[in-house]
Amino acid sequence: MLLRIENLEVKYGNVQVLHKLNLNVAQGEIVTILGANGAGKSTTLMSVSGLVKPSGGGIYLEDKALHKLEAHDIVKLGLAQVPEGRRVFGTLSVQENLHLGAFTATDQARIRKNMEWVYEMFPILHQRRGQLAGTLSGGEQQMLAIGRGLMANPKILLLDEPSLGLAPILVKSIFATIREINKSGVTIVLVEQNARLALKLADRGYVLELGKIVLEDTAKALLVNPEVQNAYLGGA
Ligand code: ATP
Repeated sequence: MLLRIENLEVKYGNVQVLHKLNLNVAQGEIVTILGANGAGKSTTLMSVSGLVKPSGGGIYLEDKALHKLEAHDIVKLGLAQVPEGRRVFGTLSVQENLHLGAFTATDQARIRKNMEWVYEMFPILHQRRGQLAGTLSGGEQQMLAIGRGLMANPKILLLDEPSLGLAPILVKSIFATIREINKSGVTIVLVEQNARLALKLADRGYVLELGKIVLEDTAKALLVNPEVQNAYLGGA
């Protein structure tokens, strides 16, 4: 397994929000985490990327104990997170935002190559490379947020709600690009409100309820699971 989360426990103050959570991601997979608002999906991703410190359990990337490391060292090991809400630096250009994503790299040739790769994935970002990120559309900002994550040249990319607030046509295009990114060798962990889309894209999925994994299966099986259909797919 590339990523292993073992008996993860997280508390905010004295409120426990994750309870003995176990989740595995194999090299090359797309794994999705489904769950209602407040189930603990973002907390799970933030624990992996080091932004939230667990109170118990362990998180391992190729047997390196991430829960003992700081967020910037976790990025260096090859794990990047694209946070919810397309946080880009609005007063910097597209190109400058991408450069910031490469903060772990010192090799200029490598940075250039990554940037070419990002522009290939998102041609619109190339067209708008000189534009201030704050003036991009919502969809373009989401692409930039993903592109910035890719600049760290990750083995594994964590995506938190990439479709949030986007028009359906843009959602389709973002999801198609996520598939492309995965095909190029990047393992993906996807948190997504749009459960149907997420399950169509993913290999496997986990269902999180009140901080506990209640179900895990292949994405195909989850799509036809009556409980999942009732709770997350509008009963269809
Ligand atoms: P959503 O789909 O709404 O983003 P989520 O499944 O990602 O939800 P989390 O954001 O992980 O859920 O939140 C899990 C629980 O922890 C919620 O009850 C939330 O209110 C609480 N929580 C999250 N962040 C904090 C914080 N910084 N301090 C206190 N409680 C928090």
